Amino acid sequence: MADKSFFIDTTKCTACRGCQIACKQWNKNPGTKTLQRGNHQNPADLSTSTFKLVRFNEIEIPGGEPKWYFFPDQCRHCMSPPCKEVADGKAKGAIIHDEKTGAVIFNPKVKMKQGDFKEVREACPYDIPRISGAGIMAKCTMCFDRINEGMLPACVKTCPTGTMNFGDRDAMLNMANKRLEEVKKVYKDAMLANPDDVRVIFLITDDPKNYHKFAVAENTIGITRKMALKRLFQPFTSLRHMIG
Ligand code: SF4
Ligand code: SF4
Repeated sequence: MADKSFFIDTTKCTACRGCQIACKQWNKNPGTKTLQRGNHQNPADLSTSTFKLVRFNEIEIPGGEPKWYFFPDQCRHCMSPPCKEVADGKAKGAIIHDEKTGAVIFNPKVKMKQGDFKEVREACPYDIPRISGAGIMAKCTMCFDRINEGMLPACVKTCPTGTMNFGDRDAMLNMANKRLEEVKKVYKDAMLANPDDVRVIFLITDDPKNYHKFAVAENTIGITRKMALKRLFQPFTSLRHMIG
């Protein structure tokens, strides 16, 4: 099976939340109690039972008109997943990177200590990993079981607007770049979010922060500032070990 990717065209999203529900249903995840918090987003955040979340953000534009930003958030299945880099040093086999599809999968059979998990979560530029009280990490699986049977991921299959797309990486990159060209005619700030670093490519039309704090990675190499600093000082730390 070839290298896979998603293309998520937020210009087409109506925030119907079909993808969010389909994800819950396929993964047999329990419902989360809804709460009115002043906007239409529910639940408040991703969790071990919510792998896909349609984020809503309301911004007041000059003139006082409200503008809605919809962002169907999920794991980006990074090309070089920083979560795995950290997890490998904490609990072997906790995160698997499938060579064929590129899917990044949290292994429910390997437990992670809560303290170690903190570092795994901090390593993710998109703030995706979550953990249960029992130490089981969870997030989007790329519907690995479905795609291995030649089916589309549940969120893509259910999306009625063409926002969610999935296929071979080359085809998805092509689709994303073509659509970006079109959209730029109307929205000059339109962009693809970290397309070279991730397998879930979002097309957005405005400042990423208007969509979600973690819509794009802080830097273009897909690692957090904290990780970059850690790497920078690693040689000195190793040297200290050798001398000591
Ligand atoms: S988005 Fe986060 S959890 Fe998903 S593969 Fe990348 S680093 Fe890992
Ligand atoms: S199913 Fe499609 S249109 Fe509906 S919220 Fe999800 S991405 Fe948006």
